[in-house]
Amino acid sequence: MEEERMEVFLELFREEPPVYIQRLEQEAREHEVPVIRRGTRDVLRYLLRTKKPERILEVGTAVGYSALFMMENMPENAEITTVEKVEMRLADARHNFKRYDKEGRICLIEGDAAKVLHDLSEQGKQYDFIFMDAAKGQYLNFLPDVMKLLVNNGTLVSDNIFHEGDVLQSRYAVTRRDRTIHERMREYLEVLTHHRELETICLPVGDGITISTKKEVAQYEKA
Ligand code: SAM
Repeated sequence: MEEERMEVFLELFREEPPVYIQRLEQEAREHEVPVIRRGTRDVLRYLLRTKKPERILEVGTAVGYSALFMMENMPENAEITTVEKVEMRLADARHNFKRYDKEGRICLIEGDAAKVLHDLSEQGKQYDFIFMDAAKGQYLNFLPDVMKLLVNNGTLVSDNIFHEGDVLQSRYAVTRRDRTIHERMREYLEVLTHHRELETICLPVGDGITISTKKEVAQYEKA
């Protein structure tokens, strides 16, 4: 079935998010801000409502769309922290959190995720749900700190693993500029799917996502 028809069909069964989230999605589209696709949004909603994580970490805030969407679907007492490094995006995210009166519910950390994730892990912070949606070429560099930050049985969701379809192509078919991302993303997928501490599934949802669960030590030592 072609992708477009499938999307139209799935739209019939999609729960509509609050109106302000729909407005943000529309604005992001108008201003060409990359935000999660609806399929990814569905997966996040499902995981948050069924797993009920209490500490959520997002890497890559942009204008705050996915952070606000996750906040709407997380348990009452849960906390969400999101990291962004680009000043223009930070200003828009701050504005959106304030505009919808959600400032107190989302902790926005400014800075490069490479440093922020390292600092958080040095501080002994722990999260039971991590959503990775920043620079695609850096996912692998972030992974050692992400593994420390994720609790046992915690969930790691990584978005855009197809990188607009490039990752599916032979490396010779992508431009030189994209080749590094292509290689790094393939390497990231290789590591995730063979990591002894992770159980991972790759799904053709949106621009491709992975869902990984961190295993208990006993689970992988037995295997
Ligand atoms: N999660 C957002 C949403 O769906 O609403 C979209 C995030 S957008 C795809 C990726 C964001 O990650 C961009 O705003 C970019 O500035 C940010 N980013 C990229 N590399 C980063 C890094 N190393 N540290 C922090 N933020 C980064």
